[in-house]
Amino acid sequence: MFNVILKGHNFEYEVGELLKAFGILDFSFVLKDFGDVDNYNHHSFLINELKGNDTKYIVRTKIIEDGSIVGSKQAEYNLNYIKGNIEKRKEIKRLIKLNIYDTLVKADYESLPWGILTGIRPAKIVHEMLDRNFTIDDIKDILKTRYRLSDDKIQLVMGIAMREREYIYPIKKDLISLYISIPFCPTRCIYCSFPSNPIKSKGNKVDDYLNSLHKEIVETGKLIRDLGKKVENIYIGGGTPTTLSSEQLRYLIAKIFDSFDTTQLKEFTVEAGRPDTIDEDKLIVLKNNGVDRISINPQTMNKNTLKTIGRIHTVEDIERTYYKAREIGFRTINMDIIIGLPNEGINEINHTLEKIEKLSPENLTVHTLAIKKSSELKQSIDEYRIKEDLVVDMLKLARRYSEKMGLFPYYMYRQKYMVGNLENTGYCKVGHECIYNMQIMEEKQTIIALGAGGVSKIVYPRENRLERVPNVKNVDEYINRVDEMIDRKKLQLCRT
Ligand code: SF4
Repeated sequence: MFNVILKGHNFEYEVGELLKAFGILDFSFVLKDFGDVDNYNHHSFLINELKGNDTKYIVRTKIIEDGSIVGSKQAEYNLNYIKGNIEKRKEIKRLIKLNIYDTLVKADYESLPWGILTGIRPAKIVHEMLDRNFTIDDIKDILKTRYRLSDDKIQLVMGIAMREREYIYPIKKDLISLYISIPFCPTRCIYCSFPSNPIKSKGNKVDDYLNSLHKEIVETGKLIRDLGKKVENIYIGGGTPTTLSSEQLRYLIAKIFDSFDTTQLKEFTVEAGRPDTIDEDKLIVLKNNGVDRISINPQTMNKNTLKTIGRIHTVEDIERTYYKAREIGFRTINMDIIIGLPNEGINEINHTLEKIEKLSPENLTVHTLAIKKSSELKQSIDEYRIKEDLVVDMLKLARRYSEKMGLFPYYMYRQKYMVGNLENTGYCKVGHECIYNMQIMEEKQTIIALGAGGVSKIVYPRENRLERVPNVKNVDEYINRVDEMIDRKKLQLCRT
């Protein structure tokens, strides 16, 4: 176990996240002051020290394993050029992470593809620099030298940021995105950490839930209209929205169009998700009511894995549903797959991708398994481990298939507890980008989220900040407290 001693600062969270990214999970922060860094020459320690004043800072790290120094680094920085305290604090954090990162690599820990970046949205850094008119070459250089990104990840994140800009900029303050949550699913997948409720046990709540949701739609719609804002993108997610009947879907969509100004609507997505919830009737209702994008998410095309992850449908169900949706004429179909599912290696991923290639969807979203604390997978397989090299190889394979299918990466994000600490990437054919996905990642547009578990993000572009307004996750709580959810949004939106 590593005893971690931080001297001269208390950035435990940032240091902890970096250590976890290196796969160092067994560590604890030692509060006792043992004196000067040079005195730590016994046991296993990681010592990081910050010394300095407003102008000059010294950062030093030393790693001691079983009494021997296995890595050390000291660097001196002049931060005179940084004006505000917040900016200076941010830079100091980066320098501390960089110093620890370099020392760990010196001590023979394998370098990380995403370097010192532990946050969820790497493309945000690129956008910030582009906003400040940095050249492409400068940004690439900064990603390499200041954040230690690998060439591969630099290429990925630069490509994505440039594509996103075509859709996100110029920022139009009068446009918003709308998210509607349907938190019901046929069964619960073992890796699920969403607020999803199995329809068998919670099905009797659906009507009450929809009544509350309709109320939130109507009231929030009034508010948004009064503020002069229009909806650019609608995304109905969950859960699995197609657990609703075709009549419930039709009524829900009608409520949305009646309540919000949709004269500027560019995109309407429904996450159909699981084929065991989709039938021809529902697809026709969606198509006839303005939905132009749907997701049919296999996660894997291997029947044994489908069973393992808790799905009650077959590979053939996925294919049949896909062809039906094609026949009905949806412009864009997305398919999600997950890399790193139990008992899957290169051969299984290859099989999944071969099948998907034949279907040729306009979007393919490649997730890397994230084992969240609230998932059944975490509880049943506490020590689920998969080799990072294997995950990297499977991701590369997915990228090769995507290229073959004429798909390019257009959005990405990272999650906590991801296998191999890698990323999720959305690929698409040209002109089939999901604007909502890009907006939610880059946080430049207000997103109003309605329903249980929805988290609205109100953007204040002038102040370069956003406020989150969460709804309760629990379905019963949501049904009973919908007025409070509406008031929460009123309070925050009236400040914009
Ligand atoms: S379909 Fe999605 S939301 Fe539903 S249980 Fe599976 S992972 Fe969770």
